[in-house]
Amino acid sequence: MAIRNIREMGDAVLNKTCKEVKEVTGRTKMLIQDMFDTMYEAQGVGLAAPQVGILKRITVIDVTGEDPILLINPVILETSGEQTGNEGCLSVPGKTGVVTRPNYVKVRAYDENLRPFEIEGTELLARAFCHEIEHLDGHLYVEKVEGELMDVEDAEE
Ligand code: ZN
Repeated sequence: MAIRNIREMGDAVLNKTCKEVKEVTGRTKMLIQDMFDTMYEAQGVGLAAPQVGILKRITVIDVTGEDPILLINPVILETSGEQTGNEGCLSVPGKTGVVTRPNYVKVRAYDENLRPFEIEGTELLARAFCHEIEHLDGHLYVEKVEGELMDVEDAEE
């Protein structure tokens, strides 16, 4: 188990476009395991490779704590509906803001053996798919916040 340092907003690595993964090496597998460890340690529901300083199209998600999802080279195939709610990011600690996202998202991605699969999600999972995939193109949710970015404590009142 290895916890990696999470890069924070202002770090240029978070604004870069990540490269497609063409092969999964031992190093890639170690990165994926470290990403899960780092996400769980930080009590996040998703983490993208650029957040640990690696410009590869890899993201891990777990919105329940019991359903780890690995997405390699993910692409959004379909969206529908709308949800508006608070969002946060491990790279923007202590902050939250209101973002509108689709309520349903279907994704095509590759697994650890580079076999393609499709996965769909609603509500928080749909939100996580959008948020994490945007990280791979150098975007943070703060660009989409409606109104002000708030401190988490103020938002919970
Ligand atoms: Zn994030």
